[in-house]
Amino acid sequence: MKRYSAFAVAREAFRQHSGWGRAWGAPEPRSRYDVIIIGAGGHGLATAYYLGKNFGITNVAILEKGWLGGGNTGRNTTIIRSNYLQDPSAAIYEKARSLYEDLSQDLNYNIMFSPRGVMMLAQTHHEVRGYQRTAYANNLQGVATEFIGPQRVKELCPIIELKGPRYPVMGALWQPRGGTARHDAVAWGYARACSDMGMHIIQQCEVTAVRSEGGRVTGVETTKGPIGCDKLGVVVAGHSGVVAEMAGFRLPIESVPLQALVSEPIKPCMDVVIMANTVHGYMSQSDKGEMVIGGGTDGYNAYTQRGSFHHLEETVRALIETFPMISRLKMLRHWGGIVDVTGDRSPILSSTPLEGCFINCGWGTGGFKAIPGSGWGFAELMAKGYSPLTDEFGLDRFVEGRFIDESVAAGVAH
Ligand SMILES: Cc1cc2nc3c(=O)[nH]c(=O)nc-3n(C[C@H](O)[C@H](O)[C@H](O)COP(=O)(O)OP(=O)(O)OC[C@H]3O[C@@H](n4cnc5c(N)ncnc54)[C@H](O)[C@@H]3O)c2cc1C
Repeated sequence: MKRYSAFAVAREAFRQHSGWGRAWGAPEPRSRYDVIIIGAGGHGLATAYYLGKNFGITNVAILEKGWLGGGNTGRNTTIIRSNYLQDPSAAIYEKARSLYEDLSQDLNYNIMFSPRGVMMLAQTHHEVRGYQRTAYANNLQGVATEFIGPQRVKELCPIIELKGPRYPVMGALWQPRGGTARHDAVAWGYARACSDMGMHIIQQCEVTAVRSEGGRVTGVETTKGPIGCDKLGVVVAGHSGVVAEMAGFRLPIESVPLQALVSEPIKPCMDVVIMANTVHGYMSQSDKGEMVIGGGTDGYNAYTQRGSFHHLEETVRALIETFPMISRLKMLRHWGGIVDVTGDRSPILSSTPLEGCFINCGWGTGGFKAIPGSGWGFAELMAKGYSPLTDEFGLDRFVEGRFIDESVAAGVAH
């Protein structure tokens, strides 16, 4: 595959850009692979990439029922942070955040990582205490965050109104190396690198059944015919329950719509990411100038990739209290995804009752930030049967009551 570089761009400019090849192939499926990954979202593609890069396993197919990155990976608001409370969460999210730092160089694909800083506002005394506690925990975990006062919040984000009518801003948990990245580019960059290693990314190929023999996975049935495999990775986010049922086990997961919206583009006015968890809203500004806005999940289970209008209205109404200047903006578009939420708001990266079948799900409203770390750990789990990054995130924690409670860090926002 052609390497992207300043030299390559200059050379192509002189020959009418006729020398660029496809970024990834469109192969027909083989009858068998060492590993099949179901789901070409960020987590599935990253898993395949690190299987190849770290373990030399390249006879891999990634099966996608729609188009790659068309699930939650291409629908999220791209917030990246690792300021979680519990040690296993901080470890996997910080691994991901640190991989994001030089992912563009690693993949030879510009993922537009922008570590502009993420701020989680404290707007009640309870939140002040909670975020101070998280800052102490993060210090011990080696995650660089600090609790800052309202004046510093105002310095970092001049458009904020500190004395909101309902909830004043009393401080914030600040992670200076948190930020955003281009979501599609993360999926495209991993896809191109996987394809370059000889892996097959097969789009428009829905898995309709999981085949097994003697309690061990042997392959899948798909809309493009049966395909055999030694190991199967299920990485399908909102459809995890559906595919788990095909494999014969149940998951403690709920699928709910989560939506987001962007305003019309305006001049640069905000160069940090702000999350206001008490009022269920968060906001950043895209490179195009749109204000990117999201809120909490809808209050019902569904498989529709759109949310309810009243939810949008609530989110915007709440945010206007803290950012009055957005009240005049027009909404440009809104969209939704189906997120997979567990009871303790932590993911599942685990072997399953079906031997050879592994599951990676439960990232809920906040899995974009975790993609590189999740792929890294899940690939290790699939290749070696154990990974220190994923060890605490097994399915057995729901049987043993060993929850990783991240409801404060992950329950509402991203
Ligand atoms: C509106 C919104 C805002 C968000 N904001 C943030 C944020 O700011 N920061 C953050 O960290 N996270 C955020 N998230 C969450 C984040 O997007 C997800 O956690 C993450 O993208 C999940 O990635 P994935 O690869 O697991 O799933 P997906 O990207 O959904 O990929 C799963 C793929 O599996 C495919 N699939 C399903 N069933 C089958 C089948 N039977 N056969 C073949 N393929 C199948 C689907 O088509 C899909 O492409 C947000 C989510 C939404 C919806």
